[in-house]
Amino acid sequence: MLVLSLVFFGIALILFWSGNRQKRESGLPPGKVVSLDLHDDQRPQTPLFSRKHLLTGKPDYLIRHGKEWIPVEVKTVQAIQQPYEAHRLQLFAYCLLVEEQYGVRPRCGYLHYRRRSPTEKDSITFQIEFSEGMKKRLLELLERMRQAEQSGDVPRSHQEAARCRACGYAAICDQKL
Ligand code: SF4
Repeated sequence: MLVLSLVFFGIALILFWSGNRQKRESGLPPGKVVSLDLHDDQRPQTPLFSRKHLLTGKPDYLIRHGKEWIPVEVKTVQAIQQPYEAHRLQLFAYCLLVEEQYGVRPRCGYLHYRRRSPTEKDSITFQIEFSEGMKKRLLELLERMRQAEQSGDVPRSHQEAARCRACGYAAICDQKL
């Protein structure tokens, strides 16, 4: 019986150590990780919604750190040196939604890039500041997008053939590269 207890204790210790190591290596900050895809006791599973900005979305994770909720977006890429601008803006939009939902502006969010590789060592996390200046920039961009949408004439805004190849609208798009 004693031997069995020791075995269970050893397994629990290994799992605890392994979980902590994975979290350390992920580069994410301390705090309770809440997945929006899995049910959390107090939070709905539905996406965040801003009535004020008419915006909706759901980050992959929220990390609760005191009164602050910090969004984390996970991307899978071939290789990465710096976060893509589009990903930064997407993260800023989540920060805005979080601010409206919980009443506290997160100071930052995290972009976690997983390389197409089975080892966690091949992942990298960037902490992205969400200052008042970033928020202003995001709101200006949202306004420009609304104006463009109303004008009905929205030309392609990139020169990336790879993006068009992976795009679900390529079959019907007259501007694909
Ligand atoms: S196929 Fe058209 S909609 Fe898709 S990324 Fe290219 S330009 Fe944009």
